[in-house]
Amino acid sequence: MTQDHKNLNSIHHSQAIPAKGIAVKSAKANFVNFNFERRNPKEHDVVIDIKFCGICHSDIHQARSEWFPGIYPMVPGHEIAGIVREVGTKVSKYKIGDRVGVGCFVDSCRTCHNCENDLDNYCLNGNTLTYNSLEKDNKTPTYGGYSDVIVVDENYVLKIPDNISLDKAAPLLCAGVTLYSPLKNWHTKKDSKVAIIGMGGLGHMGLKLAVAMQAQTIVFSHSERKKNDALKMGASDFVIANAENFSKYQSYFDLIINTVSSSEINLSEYFNLLKFDATLVAIGAPDKPYAINPFPLIMMRRKFAGSVIGSISETQEMLDFCGQHNITPEIEIISPSYVDQAYQRMLKSDVRYRFVIDMSKL
Ligand SMILES: [Zn+2]
Ligand SMILES: [Zn+2]
Repeated sequence: MTQDHKNLNSIHHSQAIPAKGIAVKSAKANFVNFNFERRNPKEHDVVIDIKFCGICHSDIHQARSEWFPGIYPMVPGHEIAGIVREVGTKVSKYKIGDRVGVGCFVDSCRTCHNCENDLDNYCLNGNTLTYNSLEKDNKTPTYGGYSDVIVVDENYVLKIPDNISLDKAAPLLCAGVTLYSPLKNWHTKKDSKVAIIGMGGLGHMGLKLAVAMQAQTIVFSHSERKKNDALKMGASDFVIANAENFSKYQSYFDLIINTVSSSEINLSEYFNLLKFDATLVAIGAPDKPYAINPFPLIMMRRKFAGSVIGSISETQEMLDFCGQHNITPEIEIISPSYVDQAYQRMLKSDVRYRFVIDMSKL
């Protein structure tokens, strides 16, 4: 079949595309089966058969309206990997059968200063999130990847390298780029000294990526449980966070990334572990504000910063980097009927290291 014939298929699509998935109907509800529709593909749209979707901690926060009131019914999921089913008439980047991914946002204004500078994750007019958000018409809700099909503009679709399986590719679309972006932006390179706080879905990706960038990478955690895993993944030390251990690493790190989303963490202790002028970046989003002591920042011109996911071009760069260095997350594959239990286990940090939903079991 020629490209023209393939494209003709989509021209003749007159109906919206039926989709099925799982949804929560309120902040307190469990997941139920949910039938809905995806839009009729427009000329730049790609129709993707979803094969796998990772579960991100922010799915729990949003499904339960912990950050802001959610839009229900809600189909979460922004770590999407699948195969192109169909393409719109003007799609040039993808063809039927391509292995692709979709991350945390599916559109942005494309005209603001940040969008024009490949920083569309920081769109000044607010990007369209993959779920729990509204399309640009300001009324159509977006539904995420806990479903069998999605329709996305080709400019917000990523290409998955051939050597990464779709199940392992899924968590890269959020967890992977959320760590890759700050590591890159704060110039991680050979022999950089990097600390990762927390050894969960985000933390283990940060460890693997920083090690691939040849940084000396040290994990801080509250328990010994994941020590052996961390050492196997290339950590040069695994430190239980307590006063005695902190004293060994005073003014040591070029970069510290906090992946822990609890507001209970004492970040001021970690500020002292930064070199002069170095930065601690928060990526775990707490549901309550942190209390911090600014003195360690003031005295050594240290910085406390934040970072959210990555741009579309940076996400592609991260996927290509993971392909080149054979970096993939550790995952546990589950069926859609297990998602409520998976959420319970995630709240107890009982997952090594990311749940991925197999959508063929829908
Ligand atoms: Zn996420
Ligand atoms: Zn913008």
